[in-house]
Formats: sequence, C-alpha cells, structure tokens
Amino acid sequence: MDRFRVDLIAATPNPQRCIYAAMHQDYSEGYVVADQAQWPDEAKAGEVCVKRLLSGERGHYGPLEHAQIVLNVGWFPHSVMQQARTHRVGVSFDVQSMRYTGDRICRAAKGELDLEDVFYLRPVGSYSDRQGKKYQYTEEERGKDLEHCRRSAERYAEMLEAGFAEEHARGILPFDYRQHFVVSFTLRAFLHFMDLRAKLDAQEEIRQMCDLMWPHMVQWAPEIAAWYEKSRLHKARLAP
Ligand SMILES: Cc1cc2nc3c(=O)[nH]c(=O)nc-3n(C[C@H](O)[C@H](O)[C@H](O)COP(=O)(O)OP(=O)(O)OC[C@H]3O[C@@H](n4cnc5c(N)ncnc54)[C@H](O)[C@@H]3O)c2cc1C
Repeated sequence: MDRFRVDLIAATPNPQRCIYAAMHQDYSEGYVVADQAQWPDEAKAGEVCVKRLLSGERGHYGPLEHAQIVLNVGWFPHSVMQQARTHRVGVSFDVQSMRYTGDRICRAAKGELDLEDVFYLRPVGSYSDRQGKKYQYTEEERGKDLEHCRRSAERYAEMLEAGFAEEHARGILPFDYRQHFVVSFTLRAFLHFMDLRAKLDAQEEIRQMCDLMWPHMVQWAPEIAAWYEKSRLHKARLAP
C-alpha cells in the first residue's frame, strides 16, 4: 500500500471497561468506582456495551466518547489530510504545516531523496471518474507527472535559496505532496470517521488510510470493533 502508514501513539487503557463504567453510572444509585471489583473484564465489558448501547441500532453513542486514541499518520497526500480535517467533532489534528518544514522537498530536488517520498502519484492502472467513465493511467503519463514534480521541487529549492519564505514557496508545489500528521479521536468519532471515509464512494487514498487505521481499533476495542465490522463497516450507514 504505497508508502502509507498509521502507527499508534497512545490510547486509553481498557477502553471498553471505561465505556462500561460511564454507562453503568447512568443507571447506578451508587458511586461506580466503589464497585470496580465487580466490573466485568475488558472483553465482557465490550460485549455488555455492544448489547446495551449499540446493537439493533440503539445509537447510544455518548459513552464511547470517554475513550480516546492517538495515531501518527504518515506519507499520505495532502488531499487526504485536507479531507480528514473536515471532521471537527471529537477529533483533533496536528499537521506538518509546510511553513516550518520543506527541507525534504529540497533534498528530493537534489536527488538525496526519492521524489516519490515527497510527492504522491497514483500507481499506473485503470481508474474511473466520479461519473463512472473509465480511463488508463499509463507509465508514460505517470512519467510526465513525475517530471512535473521534479521541476516543481527544483523551483521550490531555488526559491528557498533565494530567501523566499516556505509559506510562499509551497504554493508552487503539486497539490499531493506528502504530509505527516497526528490525529486523535474519541472512539465515537473514530467510528463516525469510518462511516464517512471507509465507504466505497470516498476517495481511494482516504479509504486506504481507513484500512490502516482499522487494525488499531480491532486491537484496542475488539468487541466494539467486531460489532462495527458486522453492522456498519463499508455500508455507508451514516450516524448523525
Ligand atoms: C465522500 C465525501 C465527500 C466530501 N466532499 C466534500 C467536498 O467536495 N467539499 C467539501 O467542502 N466537503 C466535502 N466533504 C465534507 C463534508 O461536507 C463534511 O464537512 C465532513 O464530512 C464533516 O462532516 P461530519 O458530519 O463528519 O462532521 P464532524 O465535524 O465530524 O461532526 C460530527 C457530527 O457532529 C454534528 N455536528 C458537527 N458540527 C455541527 C454543526 N455545526 N451543527 C450541527 N451538528 C453538527 C453532526 O451530526 C456531525 O455529523 C465530503 C465528505 C465525504 C464523506
């Protein structure tokens, strides 16, 4: 999958017990921490939360907001970052700004880095536009685009050497330069993001990002992930 990657930085430990505790407090007379010894283990807590909060489209998503996960996302094209950032609730981003960073573009211009480490071009292959019209992206066409990236990187390096600010020079770069970012989600926002961006009409590259994010969810909150996979993943069931 290209150079794309998604790595875990941190996550709420025992997220399903945490969600269980929040749910349990809703209907408990007492102070729930006092009963902590009686809380179910992580897997059982996940099953109980699925049953009482989620299954049958119950839609009690609120308690899922207590658990949070922080991911590092690397080498995705600018367009993916731009799309991801349209999601505002329960999610936060820190993104390579290209005001303070740009050295990698200069290094690619000098041949010290592979151009494809800093610019994203789709692989050669068959594609279709949004109306379903098919076209080929050939080796020859891709070669022309790579050359365009090389010339832009050279011009960018020239501008920086002449004293231009990074924020000025970045304007001449091809749109899909690669950008790293850190993103954190509440568990609810993570699932909402998957609803909207893993579905089949979302752009291919952001769907690939979802594919790399998803194993972190499975590892972190397996019972909730299993419910989501069965009932919502790729089904374009959009929660409000
Ligand atoms: C396939 C796809 C294509 C898209 N194409 C474009 C495009 O071409 N151009 C473009 O500009 N955008 C585009 N978008 C972005 C889209 O319009 C939304 O801005 C984006 O999906 C964020 O919406 P959200 O529901 O995830 O909001 P979030 O910010 O993640 O909020 C989560 C939920 O909170 C609630 N909420 C948030 N803010 C408000 C509010 N102000 N008032 C009431 N309720 C609120 C809503 O229930 C919302 O669904 C696209 C999105 C998708 C999935």
